[in-house]
Order: sequence, then C-alpha cells, then structure tokens
Amino acid sequence: MVRVSWREDLLRQQQHIKDEGRWRKRKMIGSAQHSLVVADDCWLTNFSSNDYLGFASHPILSLAATNAQDKWGTGAGASHLVCGHQSPHEALESELAEWLGAQRVLLFSNGYMANLAICTSLADKGDLILQDRLNHASLIDGGRLSAADFKRYKHCDLEHADTRCSLSSFNSLLLVTDGVFSMDGDVAPISGLKNLVDEFQGILCVDDAHGFGVLGDQGRGSLSHHGLKPEGNVVMMGTLGKAFGVYGAFVAGDEVIVEHLIQTGRNYIYTTALPPSIPATASASLKMIKSNWLGFKRALHENIELFRGEASRLGLPLTDSLTPIQPIIIGDEHKCLAISDRLLDCGFLIGAIRYPTVAKGSARLRVVISASHTEFQIRALVNALNDSIKSSVGGSEGVSGAELK
Ligand SMILES: *Cc1c(COP(=O)(O)O)cnc(C)c1O
Repeated sequence: MVRVSWREDLLRQQQHIKDEGRWRKRKMIGSAQHSLVVADDCWLTNFSSNDYLGFASHPILSLAATNAQDKWGTGAGASHLVCGHQSPHEALESELAEWLGAQRVLLFSNGYMANLAICTSLADKGDLILQDRLNHASLIDGGRLSAADFKRYKHCDLEHADTRCSLSSFNSLLLVTDGVFSMDGDVAPISGLKNLVDEFQGILCVDDAHGFGVLGDQGRGSLSHHGLKPEGNVVMMGTLGKAFGVYGAFVAGDEVIVEHLIQTGRNYIYTTALPPSIPATASASLKMIKSNWLGFKRALHENIELFRGEASRLGLPLTDSLTPIQPIIIGDEHKCLAISDRLLDCGFLIGAIRYPTVAKGSARLRVVISASHTEFQIRALVNALNDSIKSSVGGSEGVSGAELK
C-alpha cells in the first residue's frame, strides 16, 4: 500500500474526470424558472428544465404557495409519524388517490427518497429486484441498498427480463422501471412487464417522474397511457417537481403496499415531512391540470411536433421519442460539450448529458420541450442546433439512439 494524502487523492480523481470530458459546472440561475432565464447573468432560452407545463413559476401557483405559507408557516416540524403529518399532506394524498384511481397515496420528500424506500422496503433478503438497465440513478441506488438480490435487464427488453426471472431463484419479485426514460424520452413496455410480474406473482413499480402530468388520460401518466392504474400489484411513483412545478413525490398503490412503506420505509420514517405549503401548492397544480388538461396537452404536444418536424427537415439526429425529452445523440463527450457551449453563445441553455448519467460514448444534448415555449423559440432553437452541430469538429454524424440499446 502506498499511502497518499487525501488532497492528492481527490485531486487525482478530479483530474481523471476532467480528462474524460466529464467535469461539471453549475450555472447560477438569477431568475424564476421559465422558458427565458437569466443564467450566469445572461438571458437564455431554456430547453433544459423538466418544467414541462410551465408551472414552476406560474402566478396562480405562486399565489397558492404564498397563501399556504401564510396559513401554515414554513416548516412541518417533524417526520410524518411524529407530528409532521398535517392536513395539506393528507388532503393531497386523498386528491391524488382519487384522481389516479389508487387505494392509497403516500407523500415522500422527493423522488430519490421514494425510490430508495420502494427498493429497500418492498424487497428483502431472498427476493429479486429486477430493473431496466437505463433506470434512473435513484432506482439503481435503491437496488444496491436493498438486501434483495439486484439484477438488471437490457433496456426495454421483455425477453431478457423474462429470462432473468426464469433463471433466478427468489421468494418474491419486484420489477422496477422508469415509465418515461429520463435521458432517452422513450416509454417502457409497461403492459408486457405487467404480464411478466403477474406470471411470477410479483410487484411492478413504475417511476413516472417524466410521465406524470405529461402522458395518459388527463395527464395521469404512463400507466394510464397503457390503460392501467396503480392498483393490485402495480405501484406508481410520481414526482411533484417536474410537470407539477413544485417539489416532492408520492407513491400510489394498493393499501397493503402503501402501509408497508409507512411501517418499514426508512426514507419515509426518518425524515422531516415536507413543509405544508408544498403539498398545498401541489394540490393547486392538480386543480389546474384537472381544469385545463386539454389546453396544456395541446400546447405541449404541438411544441413537440413542431420541434421534431423542423429538426427532421434539417436532418438532425433525432430519436423515436414522442415525449418532451428529445435527445440529440452526439456520442463523444468533448464534442457534445463543445456543441452545448456554442449553443450557449447563441443564447440557448441545453443540458449536455455525459457519462456517468448516460453510457460512455453516448453523450447527448438533452433537449426538453415545454408547453411554455413559443413557436419562435422552437424554430430558433432548431436553427441554432443545426448550425452548432454541423460546424462542430467531425461533422454531424451522431450515434443513433437504437445503436445504444
Ligand atoms: C427526477 C427523477 C427522480 C428524482 O425525483 P426528485 O423528486 O427530483 O428527487 C426519480 N426518478 C426519475 C426517473 C427522475 O427523473
């Protein structure tokens, strides 16, 4: 063993990250979240946030938040099981349960913690957690943290998922998938996965961070998109910080499953409840969605179609995604960064997503379309993308999404 100082050790690791083109910097946003934001003191058109419906700075919701804070104060004071479970938490749980057709809904501080609780509480020693290889990092971490055996199957590959179940021995099965994949925007084969868990008497959990408020009947999400509900052996995790424009998350499902999370979910039990103004504001988001779903849906989907139509007309490397997440796969990490820097110079904020968030050599521009973008902004973006990609070193060739799967 050669002993090295902690500083030398950390700096060496950091140099390695830099050498691989994976160094990340935060931009300081000096305005509310909107399609136009001030980033590092410049106005930029924002195509990188998950604010799919433009709710994050909607005046009706800001007012709801202010009113709720006046009434309820700023903090919940304790965890749900001590004395932090207040009426706004309870009200939102009931409203979501009714809307989604679930027996019960449980609020969590955020999606990351909900996913850790699902994986550690619904699967134990001797059980199998089976996950799509491209699931969100929080689910992967949940799988690692759980006492259950943890395996992954090839992205959206039902046959491989089936084989992995058939060749494993386990007491019970927890199959977990993103509903809409966060970096690719494609939708999981949920009906096929449901058949698989039925066959093995297991549970299917769908992380719908990107489908909730976006897909399905009235925006109810990916399950609804497939004609399913969070009931019986199907569980849904939804987040409130993306389409809903607020913060927090929930699990919806069967009474027995939800009660199990309350009794055994360490990420539920040992943390302070959300400030009560948060669920109160999310209730207002739900009300907005219920009252004008068709309007939001039309605005969002017309924008997605406009983007795809214009981008394909110019021959940009689109994937098959029909959701707001429209990745442009570039491949090389350095090249992807260079293109996103050029886009910044043109006034567009777009995430350059690299390893370890996505596989090495599959770096991409993660273009995210929102209902709040204007036609002009989208047309200008496509032109800027075209110019930046075509003038980048090595030309416009990207790896297609299909080659990565
Ligand atoms: C954002 C996200 C999460 C985490 O949710 P937070 O509420 O932000 O912690 C979980 N899963 C997926 C697929 C996500 O995109």
